[in-house]
Amino acid sequence: MAARIAIAGGGPTGLMMARLLAGDGHDVDVFEAGPEIGGLCRSRETEGYTFDLAGGHIMFTRDERVARFWDSLYEEDEGCETHERRTRIYHARDHFVSYPFENALGELPVEDNIECTEGTIRAYLERAGSTAPKDFEAWIRWKMGAGVAKHFMEPYNQKIWKADLSEMGTSWIEGRVPDAPVEDILRASLGETTEGYTHQSVFRYPARGGFADVHERIARPVIDRVQLNRRVERLERTADAGWLVDGERYDHVVSTLPLHVLPDVITGMDAGAAEAARNLQYRGVASYLVGVEREEVRPYSWVYLPHPWQGPANRITYLSNYAAANAPEGKGSILAEVTYQPDNPPDITPAGQRALAEALAAGGLLDADKVTVTDGALNRVAYILYDIGFEAKRRAVLDWTDAQEGLWCIGRFGRYEYHNSDQCLARSIDLHAKMRPILANGGGAS
Ligand SMILES: Cc1cc2nc3c(=O)[nH]c(=O)nc-3n(C[C@H](O)[C@H](O)[C@H](O)COP(=O)(O)OP(=O)(O)OC[C@H]3O[C@@H](n4cnc5c(N)ncnc54)[C@H](O)[C@@H]3O)c2cc1C
Repeated sequence: MAARIAIAGGGPTGLMMARLLAGDGHDVDVFEAGPEIGGLCRSRETEGYTFDLAGGHIMFTRDERVARFWDSLYEEDEGCETHERRTRIYHARDHFVSYPFENALGELPVEDNIECTEGTIRAYLERAGSTAPKDFEAWIRWKMGAGVAKHFMEPYNQKIWKADLSEMGTSWIEGRVPDAPVEDILRASLGETTEGYTHQSVFRYPARGGFADVHERIARPVIDRVQLNRRVERLERTADAGWLVDGERYDHVVSTLPLHVLPDVITGMDAGAAEAARNLQYRGVASYLVGVEREEVRPYSWVYLPHPWQGPANRITYLSNYAAANAPEGKGSILAEVTYQPDNPPDITPAGQRALAEALAAGGLLDADKVTVTDGALNRVAYILYDIGFEAKRRAVLDWTDAQEGLWCIGRFGRYEYHNSDQCLARSIDLHAKMRPILANGGGAS
């Protein structure tokens, strides 16, 4: 028996869930608040340039199931290109060093190298037998030493998180912050290349349409089930263990809505869970397209910009290096990311776009006279902010949502997990496997 399933949110997670559940014959409806599908993985074309609307995205996964699934999406037309990752950190004027920073100390000016190496050794000796600090600022110095903190970790993290680092926790850093062994750092300091972060050394990217192409392909079998400009406003339990979605009855709801909005959407949410949800914090990201003459494009995938003199962006991506179709013939494209506190968005009007391009030019990253076009987009909910106490808040919300029959919360903000889109697809495969026997056993709510 087919179940009626409402899917809230048409990002990668919602689309993948729709595809999997519809593939089993269930009756799915996807409700997407925005005017297009794809969530943070959307792209847009502007005057012949294609750019990703929530910062540079790549296809990379460690999950075999997701790798095979992506293969299947592209097997007919090979519409996907493979690239070697070439990332850099912009350390000083006209001076780019390899990423991760600690594995590239030998590429620094000698005084900076000595400061970082001395700090690394001092931190290594001092932390013996101690436990890792719980706040991120102290952790950086404890783990990496004062030199690496000063030259990269502190300015970069202040720029990206727009938060006091001493008020951030450390639960998110494993697998996200490269963790070089001290021997590798010392070798690097002496000029021997030590590649510390080999994962993502090769990645894929769609040949046309920007990163959005991946999710347009995922959505193809269910596109007629997607309602755009359809914000879910109210979720209510029914007496017969189903759910009303804005008044319409469904057997199950798959919610990819950010957990922090649930208290305003779910009728009768537990007060403690609702308070915890409201206190979850996040950051937005503005994505700026800067179209340029081809000669302005460096041979890199992306470059981290830790320092204030480099302008407000924390990272630029040379998007035309990912796919020739991302820029017109003879031109190139640079994508700049500027994170923001949700109520303090950066200016993405044409004047703001120009100012951003001029800041990159002032930092020596491009020639302002070679800019051909600019554009910009805001994403209010883009990064989870891992403040101290985050884990307890998240647990309090999920303990309640996971106990609600027929409600399945999933997704980057649907569970507040620092997931890239591949992990969202992997979690969707897992949730589908979990729901399958329940749905097969009568179709109604569990
Ligand atoms: C700067 C940056 C770089 C990234 N780089 C990569 C990368 O290189 N590779 C990669 O794989 N991933 C990357 N990611 C992560 C990737 O963007 C996310 O993992 C993915 O988009 C999450 O998918 P989702 O469907 O869970 O959520 P989202 O993409 O956030 O989609 C949620 C959807 O729900 C909709 N919605 C919200 N509220 C409502 C409502 N009330 N009713 C209906 N709809 C609603 C939203 O409009 C949105 O479309 C990056 C993210 C950022 C911010």
